[in-house]
Amino acid sequence: MNTPENRPLFAQWPGLSGPVPHCALATLPTPVEALEGLAAETRAASVHIKRDDQSGALYGGNKVRKLEFLLARAVAEGRRRVLTFGAAGSNHALATALYARQAGLRSISMMVPQPNAHSVRRNLLRGLSAGVEFHYRGTKAGLALATLRVLQRCRREDGRYPMVIPPGGSSPLGAVGFVNGALELRTQAEAGLLPVPDRIYVPCGTMGTAMGLLLGLKAAGLPTTVVTVRVVDRQFVNEKRARKLFASCNRLLHEADAAFPLLPFPEEQFEFRDDFFGEEYALYTEASVEACRRAAEVGIRLEGTYTGKAFAALLHDGAQGRLAGKRVVFWNTYNGVDFANEIAGLDYHALPPAFYRYFEEDVQPLDRNH
Ligand SMILES: *Cc1c(COP(=O)(O)O)cnc(C)c1O
Repeated sequence: MNTPENRPLFAQWPGLSGPVPHCALATLPTPVEALEGLAAETRAASVHIKRDDQSGALYGGNKVRKLEFLLARAVAEGRRRVLTFGAAGSNHALATALYARQAGLRSISMMVPQPNAHSVRRNLLRGLSAGVEFHYRGTKAGLALATLRVLQRCRREDGRYPMVIPPGGSSPLGAVGFVNGALELRTQAEAGLLPVPDRIYVPCGTMGTAMGLLLGLKAAGLPTTVVTVRVVDRQFVNEKRARKLFASCNRLLHEADAAFPLLPFPEEQFEFRDDFFGEEYALYTEASVEACRRAAEVGIRLEGTYTGKAFAALLHDGAQGRLAGKRVVFWNTYNGVDFANEIAGLDYHALPPAFYRYFEEDVQPLDRNH
C-alpha cells in the first residue's frame, strides 16, 4: 500500500518500504495557502498555512499522519484492537478510533479528566457513534490499573493483546508520519507552491509532530527552524524529552534503512516556547482565544487547546518584529472535518456515566460564547 508518489519518504528512501509498515489513510499532500494579509501585517516576506486540517476524509488534523504507520503495524502484527490514551476530549483518541475502524480494528480509549469545552462533548459523541470502548479514571494511577485489567480481558477474549498506542500517537514510529510531512513540504517548495520557510510554527502536545518535522527537515537538508509551542505541563514535554524522541525516531529509520542518515540534534533549528501555555492543559488563555478569533477572520478554524496557543505565538512574534523579512509557515494541526451530522440526535447517556459531567456542567469560561 506504499504510494511513493505522495509519500516522499518512501520515494527518497525506497529501502524503508517493507521494514517500516505503512498504510495509506491520509489524503496527501495537504494544500499550502498564502496568508497575504498576515504577511503584510507582520512584515514577513510570506506567511503560509499548511492545511493538515484537510489531512483525511474521516477526520483531519495531525494524528492521521502518525496513524498511517501505527495502524499499519497493528494490522501487520495481526492485532484485533488498539488501545490508546487521552484526556476526555482527545482528538488523538478519536482519530485513532475512526481510522482503526477503517483498518478493520476495534479501539479502546483510556481517558483522564480535562477542563470542559464544547469540543469535548463533540468528540465524545463522535467516539460513541464510532463504537469506541471508553474507560475513564480520575487519576493516572487509576487509569494504569484499569488499563491492565482491560489488556488482560482482551487477551482472554481475542487470544492476544491489543496494540498499545501511546498518548498523542507519539512513539518513534508515529513521529515518522511527520518526517514524511517535512519531506512533503520540501516537495511543495520545489514545485514553487511556497518558499522554503525560515520558521514553522506548530503546537507541541506529545512532541511527535514537532520532532518528526525537525528530523524530516534536517534529513532534507533544509535550514528551517521549528518553533514549537508547549501546551502541556513541562513535566511531560521538555527539551530533554524532545531530544530523546528525535533520536529514537532517527534510530528507527536508520536501522530500517542504513541509507537514512543518523543526524545530530539541530539545536539551532529548534525553538521551544513556554510562554503561551497558560495554567493547564486544555485550559484556554485570553491569547489563544484572541488568536482563534483572528484566524477566523481569515477563514481558518482553530481551537483554544493547541492551535490557538501556537497561532498566538506567531502573532506575538509578528507584533514584536521578529518575523520581518522571514518566510513563515503555520502548520494547522486541527481537524477540519465537520461531523455535526454524525452526532446529531445522539444521547450522552449512552456513554459511561463518568462522562456525563462534561454534558451537565458548564464549559470553561473562555469557551462560553460559542
Ligand atoms: C494532538 C494535537 C496536537 C499535538 O501534537 P503532538 O504531536 O502531540 O505534539 C496539536 N494540535 C492538535 C489539534 C492536536 O489534536
